Amino acid sequence: MATSIFTKIIAREIPCFRIHEDEHVFAFLDINPLSRGHTLVIPKEPAQTLDQLSEESAAALGRVLPRISRAILRATGATAFNILQNNGAMAHQVVMHVHFHIIPKYADGSGLGIQWPARALGADEGAALATAITDQLQ
Ligand code: AMP
Repeated sequence: MATSIFTKIIAREIPCFRIHEDEHVFAFLDINPLSRGHTLVIPKEPAQTLDQLSEESAAALGRVLPRISRAILRATGATAFNILQNNGAMAHQVVMHVHFHIIPKYADGSGLGIQWPARALGADEGAALATAITDQLQ
């Protein structure tokens, strides 16, 4: 698998403000935070996108994300936050190593801004799509 700047951070070849480390997971402050406490949680496994990640690493991330989120809320005083996880350049992924952003949202508006251009899902389209995706899960 390809390496990235995050591989170097895990290997301590590049400095970071580390928050957490265990067998499968590493977490550190984002160097260009959207808000105070903006943190990145990454697997040590160098998968580029979430769909390529092993179940073992995914489980380890899922286990620790709530705990790190709670710590950020307590440390910053924030009461709301977004989890952002970009996959692919078209989806705004810049560093090609799976990462979860934990981004506190504050009353002053700092944090993640979201555009949500939703439309209604038609009944036929919904049924066909649900079947197609479910089939791919088998
Ligand atoms: P994404 O657009 O989801 O790929 O986000 C990549 C994130 O990595 C950005 O928020 C960057 O600010 C952050 N980032 C890039 N290099 C570093 C670094 N050396 N230390 C901490 N965060 C970084």
